[in-house]
Amino acid sequence: MEKLEKLQMYVNGEWIDPASGEWFESYNPFTGKPWVLFPRGGAADAERAVETAKKAFNSGEWPKLNATQRGQLLRRLGDLVAENAEHLAELEVRDNGKLYAEMSMQLKYVPQWYYYFGGLADKIEGRVLPIDKPDHFTFTSREPLGVVVAIVPWNSPLLLTAWKLAPALAAGNTVVVKPSEFTSASTLAFIKLIEEAGFPPGVVNVVTGFGLDVGEPLVTHPDVAKVAFTGGVLSGTRVYEKAAAGLKKVSLELGGKSPNIVFDDADIDNAIKGAISGIFAATGQTCIAGSRLLIQESIHDQFMDKLVAFAKTAKMGDPMSLETQVGPVTTHPQYEKILSYMDVAREDGAECVLGGGKAERPECGDGWFVEPTIYDGVTNDMRIAQEEVFGPLLSVITFEDDDEAVEIGNDVVYGLAAGIWTSSIRRAIDISARVKAGTVWVNTYRAASFIAPFGGYKQSGLGRENGQEAINEYLQTKTTWISVATETPNPFVMR
Ligand code: NAD
Repeated sequence: MEKLEKLQMYVNGEWIDPASGEWFESYNPFTGKPWVLFPRGGAADAERAVETAKKAFNSGEWPKLNATQRGQLLRRLGDLVAENAEHLAELEVRDNGKLYAEMSMQLKYVPQWYYYFGGLADKIEGRVLPIDKPDHFTFTSREPLGVVVAIVPWNSPLLLTAWKLAPALAAGNTVVVKPSEFTSASTLAFIKLIEEAGFPPGVVNVVTGFGLDVGEPLVTHPDVAKVAFTGGVLSGTRVYEKAAAGLKKVSLELGGKSPNIVFDDADIDNAIKGAISGIFAATGQTCIAGSRLLIQESIHDQFMDKLVAFAKTAKMGDPMSLETQVGPVTTHPQYEKILSYMDVAREDGAECVLGGGKAERPECGDGWFVEPTIYDGVTNDMRIAQEEVFGPLLSVITFEDDDEAVEIGNDVVYGLAAGIWTSSIRRAIDISARVKAGTVWVNTYRAASFIAPFGGYKQSGLGRENGQEAINEYLQTKTTWISVATETPNPFVMR
């Protein structure tokens, strides 16, 4: 058997083996075979990385850099990511099986986060307060938090790393990144660019391994000031609880069960594309998947005929091929989870109108492929309408009028995103105001930008990533009072 390459972790500007001396296999979801070995990091590695990041925060070159210089480093990093985008995208496809077309687009876009937050670094300003106390000059300054832990899932590794790393560094923090145990390869390649960009050692570190082994020791480490987490609700809740014990700052980007709502006055062809992009793009493995399609009763039959006909044409196969539209599922447990939801749908009485099982097409080989699947006749109390499947499984629910659309749309524990398809500006504004979600798309779906704040209502998360708001998640405010009095007043009375 071919010997697999053993990757190393990156701490304090050095490549290190895990203290455990153990590695584990990363699988290529298209072939179903292992292709590389990731270091199995543990508590000792977490300790080493945090200590290093703490040292780099408090001493050495990093705290001496001014904000403009930090911005320059970030912009240089953006250039290097742009130069290496194709290679990084290929690594991501091998690790997570998502389409090369999607990952290369993402990787070409990732530099924008480093440019944007690099530009923002020296626009973080305090204020001089018009203070009401006599003889005082009082001002605020915005300061970094310290060591930030960035925990990332497998679906868009370097994009979601950039969402955390760029604002954290722009604000002057140091960072320990923990990529997903399923997709660490691109992060370990990216970290070479951090070194090349000229970040001092210890400012960004990467430890790899499983959530409980190495993620949790990072979250509970007393010297960690903030945890920025993207992942599932169960792990996110646990991370929140563990971080709370140390009163750490936390931001969480969690799951979704987003309604994609089609009204009878919508442009049907565009809405069909929106429905498809909401659930079958990225094989449904996105937190913002429009996994509940709400169709107005009066257009249901016409819409479904066209939707199923369109979805049937989706090409499956090698994610590296630019022809492929639906790739494999990233992980084997996820593959089994999606298939198990098809049993759940059957038991709950949903009507399968497309797919409904493994994809056994010749072009799918031994990969972990699931047929694009559509269930009609779903009611919002069914599990496939309430639980995040994170796969190409669409639940179709009908509604009669605007009020019912809003009621069903909001009747889940999540609130990450929503889509609205209508030609009425009144409806667009009214429904988007009534939908409880952090992002609302009208006549579009799955648009995201470094400029646009992103995050969840309800159990979809805490805090915001992207846009100017995101930098606040990595800063704290200090108020400084300077007395200009010539005489100190009565010390026994509050000033
Ligand atoms: P996951 O929660 O299993 O893992 C995410 C990361 O957390 C991994 O790096 C994992 O090792 C780590 N982790 C798990 N348990 C931990 C613990 N106790 N302490 C510290 N770290 C721990 O999620 P996943 O399966 O990798 O990703 C899919 C999930 O991510 C989906 O639910 C999806 O909705 C969500 N997601 C959300 C967004 C968003 O922006 N809202 C974006 C992408 C994915």
